[in-house]
Amino acid sequence: MSGRNQISLWTMARQRLDEVAQLMHLDPRIHEVLRNCKRVMEVSIPVKMDDGSIKVFIGWRVHHNLARGPAKGGVRYSPTLTLDEVKGLAMLMTWKCAVVDLPYGGAKGGVICNPTELSDGELERLTRRYTSELILLLGPEKDIPAPDMGTDERVMAWMMDTYSMNVGYSVPGVVTGKPVNIGGSRGRREAPGRSVAICVEEAASRLGIRLEGAKVAIQGFGKVGGVVALLLHAIGCKIVAVSDIKGGIYNPNGLDPVKLTAHKRQHKTVSTYRDGDFITNDELLELPCDILVPAAVEGVITNENAEKVRAKLIVEAANGPITMEADSILRDKGVFIVPDILANAGGVIVSYFEWVQDIQQFFWTEQEVNDRLRQVIRRAFGEVWSILRDRGIDMRTAAYILAVSRVAEAIRMRGIYP
Ligand code: GLU
Repeated sequence: MSGRNQISLWTMARQRLDEVAQLMHLDPRIHEVLRNCKRVMEVSIPVKMDDGSIKVFIGWRVHHNLARGPAKGGVRYSPTLTLDEVKGLAMLMTWKCAVVDLPYGGAKGGVICNPTELSDGELERLTRRYTSELILLLGPEKDIPAPDMGTDERVMAWMMDTYSMNVGYSVPGVVTGKPVNIGGSRGRREAPGRSVAICVEEAASRLGIRLEGAKVAIQGFGKVGGVVALLLHAIGCKIVAVSDIKGGIYNPNGLDPVKLTAHKRQHKTVSTYRDGDFITNDELLELPCDILVPAAVEGVITNENAEKVRAKLIVEAANGPITMEADSILRDKGVFIVPDILANAGGVIVSYFEWVQDIQQFFWTEQEVNDRLRQVIRRAFGEVWSILRDRGIDMRTAAYILAVSRVAEAIRMRGIYP
């Protein structure tokens, strides 16, 4: 996809912080603390491969800032992973938790590997050894990993089991995004997509966009994008395009996400779906539509294609899909952007619910989870909206001001040790 890795996510995250720090007159001492990660752990992970060889993988866990609570954030398995990507994503987690007011600090982890090329046994051994190497950092009061790109419920179950085996008893609250029958939360799987859909509704009602018949293009039809398509279709939107890593499909008269989901299950891609025209991932971003949802990877809307975006509203389902330059081009064009740290926060919000349920050993119904998720997103959306209105700024900047001021206040109140 175009523009990937133009500048690192870490550089971008820092630049965004610097801009906001200046705008809000942040105490320079606190700014300096926030420009750095609290700790970075690098581990090497020897894995016995199925052919008898031993392969050593490199992994990390990064804690950006823990002033507001224990470390929270996903684990990414990707062949192109870099430490800068993990650090950038850890900083984004700090802001994401703060903007929706969860009592967590920001973290992220990952391993350089291609999970699709590993056998189930290799993936399990890699996950268990990675968890063991991180054990000093982990714990329900210390650091609670969750799924991210390339990891899933199964990986979380192995992480939970490895930690539990090491301490000698079951500790479900050490990771979130687990299968429901071992302490996972109902509604966790759909949560990131559900918060994106709620943000579409919140933004559309304030901007006067009619959702009935509104044309929506979604880049990425995976764990997040697939749910967004189903939920928006259910409230009357017309899903005109979807895609995955192999390409996408476009039909200006609307696609049926239920049929697309079945097609994807059977053929592992939506790009071969018959009821529309094949398009590339780059073409999808430039289609005529009202609402664009980038739900794949970071850095896909850049200074090269931002000018060609035709949507009025972009809701960021992926982390960091719009580069800094593209952000300002879109702003000048009058495109309204709901930022990732708010839009996809549903994942970590329901992770928080899962952690609370695990600690209390008292489980909620799916309806309770979904209702509380809606409450949290709507409250945060409203808080960010009033900053945007009062200061006449864009929504990303407003969300950052709210998040950074909450973290800065926690640092100020706790003081700098010693
Ligand atoms: N990986 C997800 C994210 O980027 C979820 C993190 C979590 O639930 O801790 O927000």
